[in-house]
Amino acid sequence: MTTMTASDWRARAEGLAIADQAFIDGAYVSSRSGATFEKISPVDGRLLARVASCDGEDADLAVAAARRAFDDGRWARQAPAARQAVLLRLAALIEAHAEELALLETLDMGKPIGDALAVDVPAAARAIRWSAEAIDKIYDEVAPTPEDQLGLVTREPVGVVAAIVPWNFPLMMACWKLGPALATGNSVVLKPSEKSPLSALRLAALAVEAGLPAGVLNVLPGFGHTAGQGLSRHQDVDTLVFTGSTRIGRRLMVDAGETNMKRVWLEAGGKSPNIVFADAPDLEEAAEAAAAAIAFNQGEVCTAGTRLLVENSIREAFVARVVAALERHWRPGDPLDPATRVGALVDGTQLETVLGYIEAGRAEGATLRLGGAPLADASCALLVPPTVFDDVAPGMRIAQEEIFGPVLSVIGFDDFDEAIAIANDTIYGLAAAVWTRDLSKAHRAARALRAGSVWVNQYDGGDMTAPFGGFKQSGNGRDKSLHAFDKYTELKATWIKL
Ligand code: NAD
Ligand code: MN
Repeated sequence: MTTMTASDWRARAEGLAIADQAFIDGAYVSSRSGATFEKISPVDGRLLARVASCDGEDADLAVAAARRAFDDGRWARQAPAARQAVLLRLAALIEAHAEELALLETLDMGKPIGDALAVDVPAAARAIRWSAEAIDKIYDEVAPTPEDQLGLVTREPVGVVAAIVPWNFPLMMACWKLGPALATGNSVVLKPSEKSPLSALRLAALAVEAGLPAGVLNVLPGFGHTAGQGLSRHQDVDTLVFTGSTRIGRRLMVDAGETNMKRVWLEAGGKSPNIVFADAPDLEEAAEAAAAAIAFNQGEVCTAGTRLLVENSIREAFVARVVAALERHWRPGDPLDPATRVGALVDGTQLETVLGYIEAGRAEGATLRLGGAPLADASCALLVPPTVFDDVAPGMRIAQEEIFGPVLSVIGFDDFDEAIAIANDTIYGLAAAVWTRDLSKAHRAARALRAGSVWVNQYDGGDMTAPFGGFKQSGNGRDKSLHAFDKYTELKATWIKL
């Protein structure tokens, strides 16, 4: 635990050197056009950096560098143990620079510094280390062939990977991609969100320090319609991996189809149901978890528990507990204060979106039980307290659309089948939770829920050892675990006549 105070962090922010250029072929460079964009901090409205605004021309340079690096084998053809050593050093460097990276993350996108230190940075290091440790422990196959044949089934890196990531966990999302992509020998062009480019740009230098050869990791800051499109419509990107919204995910599949049929792997949006049955083992614990599920990271979480489904016999008392838990623990505050648990929304656009949904909830007739407006008299305009709507009908916009802010929709149900039907009544399928002390009911629910992760008597379990991703329009493919390696490798069958 850090002993630094908010003013210590502010002092540290004053002296912080910020990398603001693209990173291509082992060097920081301006965008070819010279264009930059202003990165304003949601913490205090301060101009953090003028960041290189890359476009298609820069994407061409980055992809060409990645291609050269891949083709000459400077990384892909190193011994697995050699690649492993580099990535283990990178994981250690991330940990050694934890405070700097956490500060960049908080200044860039407004999350609490305590979370950046306790969650984001360790998870980023863990993703790199876990993937690295696997490299020299995975074996290929010999097929069960007739006597005169030898069939080899081998995995090869796909080549040039473009990774486009969002702003809610910038470094962690990047490392969920980079770990398995680099471990399997690919070259990567990483495009961070225009709302949070700073930690990725810093990471590039750490990778070089760790010994990653030039051109193997390139970082391309810029907007979606410029840098992003430059990658998604590129003719020489082999695989596109994406974390972000469902709307943009659909668009990327079109881009791939219209260009070179690059593989497209998507981690997209969610509207996850958190189902509380009257026989939950501990209603107070369930209420605390429901509060955390909507308030953590300002509700800017793909797996946020945004739909709270509560059995009607306990609904009133349970909602009161959730509201109390939110009031007790989850009041927004200064993101640089280590005691803060809810920080600033990422920017004014996101604030408008969130307030628009709060208005929609009111207009559609839901009952506001908590929150509903930004904190008055705060030094920062982007602090929105957790907001709770009860009496939400499953068809309302606040029950169907991803808000990406701390807005909870409570929906009542009377029996198991109704709960499952409401839970699955969504275009999304990222995660779901169920609270019951009935083992059989828990298993039946887990089977019936159409979601990539199901939690029983907890919310948000998981680590690198298990796959993470979505059913339906929450995406395809999986991050984390060895299953993630599938996205970054091609299977080859080699037939040798004996
Ligand atoms: P977004 O889709 O707006 O942007 C994601 C990335 O795509 C950014 O880097 C952006 O610049 C880029 N982009 C935007 N338009 C593009 C285009 N036309 N072509 C190419 N690239 C383009 O998402 P966001 O607002 O940054 O992040 C929030 C979303 O991410 C939410 O929907 C959330 O659920 C999702 N998310 C999902 C997961 C998961 O693992 N499933 C994890 C975190 C966030
Ligand atoms: Mn967006």
